[in-house]
Amino acid sequence: MKKMCELKLFTCLIAAVVLGPGSTMNHAQGQPPPDHPAVTVQGQTYTPRLILARNMGTEEDQTRQFPPHKIIGNIHYVGTRTLSSFLLVTPQGNILIDSTYERNVPTIQKSVEQLGFKFSDTRILLGNHAHGDHQEGDALVKQLTGAQVMAMAEDVPALRGMKPGGKEHPIDRVLHDGEEVTLGGTTLVAHLTPGHTRGCTTWTMKAQEGGRTYDVMFGCSLRPTGVLTPALVDEFTRSFKLVHALPCDVQLGDHGAQYNMQEKYAKLQKGGPNPFIDPATCTLEADIQEAMFRAMLVEQKKPAQP
Ligand SMILES: [Zn+2]
Repeated sequence: MKKMCELKLFTCLIAAVVLGPGSTMNHAQGQPPPDHPAVTVQGQTYTPRLILARNMGTEEDQTRQFPPHKIIGNIHYVGTRTLSSFLLVTPQGNILIDSTYERNVPTIQKSVEQLGFKFSDTRILLGNHAHGDHQEGDALVKQLTGAQVMAMAEDVPALRGMKPGGKEHPIDRVLHDGEEVTLGGTTLVAHLTPGHTRGCTTWTMKAQEGGRTYDVMFGCSLRPTGVLTPALVDEFTRSFKLVHALPCDVQLGDHGAQYNMQEKYAKLQKGGPNPFIDPATCTLEADIQEAMFRAMLVEQKKPAQP
């Protein structure tokens, strides 16, 4: 069973039994998370079910190419409508963040080429977290490009269990909290922001545009996926604090919905200032997830209904 369940462990276990080992469970096929508790942040109401639906969209949204575009500096979007993949272009080759599902790799390749770059120039492959919708395609990307795959130590066990078509998950370098990945003048810092997965990684880097330098954050999902154990409470508490403290002018995320990609892309088409430079909304996603986390904790502490 691949460690690709964004849903509750229970659902994944059911899927493991029903589908058998080596099967691919899609989010859409699993049991949806509950529609409670509900939290309202900046006038918008969220439930665990609504957040997952917002992140994933339909099956088609997960697969259909989103117009590839430049975000800022050397950072480009090459993912689908709801699953992010980012291309960082450097003079010494390129870095790809998130391969998404394996079936999306040809779409990512097409997007890279439509932007005028070569997929075979991918030298380093990084990921946000060890779930199939973000890293299932790693083995295929490595096969096609020879890229070095780097992953946060705490996510390595889950990644090792991700074997589409029986392919071993490649891991060429194991990273630890605070370590840097550098290529052709671009340096990314790996921040451990656990909770959603043990090794959930928030990446930060600097991007240059119009003679100025901007802090860019590639957020990792902060969505609680089920029962909050004391260990998970500690992890999330640490992660919310860290994400709120990171310097940020441009916030991105492993799902476009985490940074209103579609809305910002529409603004980009109209010209004017770069809509992705938006420090005021940098912590909105963390605020939503922290509110949900606290509401879930309250609900969890209530005695069960007879
Ligand atoms: Zn996930």
